[in-house]
Amino acid sequence: MTRDELIQALIPERVRQGAAYQIPDATGMVKLDAMENPYRWPQSLRDELAIRLADCALNRYPDPHADSIRAPLAQWMQIPETLDLLFGNGSDEIIGLLISNLIGTGRSVCAPDPSFVMFQVLANQYSVPFRALPLDSEFDIDVDGWMDGLMEADPALIFVPQPNNPTGNLFSKDRLAQIVESTQALIVIDEAYTAFTDADYLDWAERYPNVVVMRTLSKVGLAGSRFGMLIGHPEWIVEFDKIRLPYNINVMSQTAVQFALEYASILEEQSGLIRQERSRLSSRLSERGFSVWHSEANFVVMDCGVHAARDLFEGLKQHQVLVKCLDGSHPRLTNTLRLTVGTPDESDALLSALDQLVAR
Ligand SMILES: *Cc1c(COP(=O)(O)O)cnc(C)c1O
Repeated sequence: MTRDELIQALIPERVRQGAAYQIPDATGMVKLDAMENPYRWPQSLRDELAIRLADCALNRYPDPHADSIRAPLAQWMQIPETLDLLFGNGSDEIIGLLISNLIGTGRSVCAPDPSFVMFQVLANQYSVPFRALPLDSEFDIDVDGWMDGLMEADPALIFVPQPNNPTGNLFSKDRLAQIVESTQALIVIDEAYTAFTDADYLDWAERYPNVVVMRTLSKVGLAGSRFGMLIGHPEWIVEFDKIRLPYNINVMSQTAVQFALEYASILEEQSGLIRQERSRLSSRLSERGFSVWHSEANFVVMDCGVHAARDLFEGLKQHQVLVKCLDGSHPRLTNTLRLTVGTPDESDALLSALDQLVAR
């Protein structure tokens, strides 16, 4: 057989027909596409981190439980002692872990629509049935629509980003409680944007038998270290720990996260700046006639109105500003752009590029 024939025979159709996840090249750009924290660490701390990293035993496997991180993380996030933690190589890995658990069971996964794409991407990859749950005109939970969807799909797992990505809003607490109380599925409340909202659902993981909470350090300043966590009752965590790869958090990541937690106040200050900048950027965009959706996250969605989102997206790229064009990704996101909130200077670069583009 030729290699081509072997690939036809050995790689499943769904993989051959698919494409790798596309990440645009951002070299030299003002990068406002991926919800990263724009702030770097002071040079003195970077030097100190370099020393710690130099001390890492790269010849040894990392601590399989990343124990040095547990106590400082629990303290910083005020995680109740009754709850346990499982760490992932980004929360993406945890999403995959939870879904992979359902392979071959015939049980399905649900998530709101529109929402974070990885839920569906990973369900497809593992051939686990996926069902989208409808949102109402305010992008809040459509309770009747969810009840119908849950009845039909009978999922084992429901992901609920709180606040939601890419819409930026929080789902109403009452509606979410109604769903939690009416389903037998495990609900994963995905608090990826916890640093940018006052909402906090950790106590639900204590109160409800079918709720766990997922968080990540990516949006708060450690995207490069790939570190996410599942927070839940020990009886849940012990089960998921059985399907986790033993050395999933590498030693450099463990070291960097432990170091960052010693200086967590810096991360908090930076998140505070981003929250302030979110409201300034939103006002500046509104003044220019763009309609900006309220956001509890470190991004805002703007409806481009009389302008074409795709043209603005391409035009911004010409001005070295990279944002995310949501147009075409979902009917309800037509003609919108998602702008990650960066530094005030980055916002100014974005605004001045927009001014030049719309003046033409
Ligand atoms: C960014 C994001 C994640 C993924 O975070 P990582 O820890 O970087 O994998 C998970 N959920 C939502 C809703 C996100 O927006």
